[in-house]
Amino acid sequence: MITVVGSFVVDLTSRAPHIPVPGETVLGRSFRLGPGGKGSNQAVAAARAGSQVNMITKLGDDEFGAIAVKSFKTNGINIEYTPITKDHPTGSAQIIVDDAGENVIVVTLGACGTITREEVFAAEEVIKNSAVVVTQLETSREAVIASVELANKYNVPVIFNPAPYNDDYPREILPMVTYATPNETEAGFMADLKIIDDKSALLAALKIKEMGVKTVIITLGKRGCLIYLNADDYTFVPAFKVDAVDTTGAGDAFNGGFAHAIEKGIDIKEAVRYASAVAAISVTRFGTAPAMPTESEINEFISKQC
Ligand code: ADP
Repeated sequence: MITVVGSFVVDLTSRAPHIPVPGETVLGRSFRLGPGGKGSNQAVAAARAGSQVNMITKLGDDEFGAIAVKSFKTNGINIEYTPITKDHPTGSAQIIVDDAGENVIVVTLGACGTITREEVFAAEEVIKNSAVVVTQLETSREAVIASVELANKYNVPVIFNPAPYNDDYPREILPMVTYATPNETEAGFMADLKIIDDKSALLAALKIKEMGVKTVIITLGKRGCLIYLNADDYTFVPAFKVDAVDTTGAGDAFNGGFAHAIEKGIDIKEAVRYASAVAAISVTRFGTAPAMPTESEINEFISKQC
């Protein structure tokens, strides 16, 4: 069993010839509305891979909240510990993608930005019985801290995906983190350097390790990722070669797949390979949550690789 403490937002995605300048109205080419948010996407990825998943987020008492409930139910995700509030709307992300693939996004966390310490502690029993707890930076600071503290109390491994990065993130949790999974931009911010090659990725991993994290995994987009245990034990794992059509949510697919593999007790290198396979399949499809592969699709993809 896995517990994810994180965000749910409804993605409202318009495709348009260009991104409007202030005051301009542009006729869009298409529009799509669907479930999103890093926490939710990672929960869906892990559930589709075959894990039993508890999702702790917070929803508004509104239409978008109903979309969340439907999506979690469809994917067999337990939301017993996800409160519904009348005080805030469900989170939303307004996304505009232009013909060149550039985008602008406004995320309003709404309810999921107000998860309290008490609301996380209400799930103490399921966290205690989880094989791994996964959290990101797309909720309230106190929710992130509470989930990591509770996991630590019961020796449950923690996957911390520091996304989206902000400079005020609770650094005090890092010594309680088993696996930190920044992408190269986030790792660069955490380590206060720019990752431009393998050497700088290694230096960033070393610095993040020195902040107390047990194992650092820096994802490097289509180049793959770096697993860093210490200066004498690190591995660059190449990504699978696929025809990517939409790389949004690649990191979420990776984290969800990784959580599933860790739950199964697979060794770290194999777990990262599994996570890379989940992410590789997801980038061959459009969207985030809908792009997450099922257990049989993942197994078939991996068996075709050798
Ligand atoms: P994020 O989406 O958080 O920015 P990355 O872009 O680093 O994360 O991608 C996460 C993982 O997804 C990578 O480590 C890699 O395994 C996989 N991935 C990303 N882009 C591709 C791609 N074009 N082809 C194959 N795998 C990819």
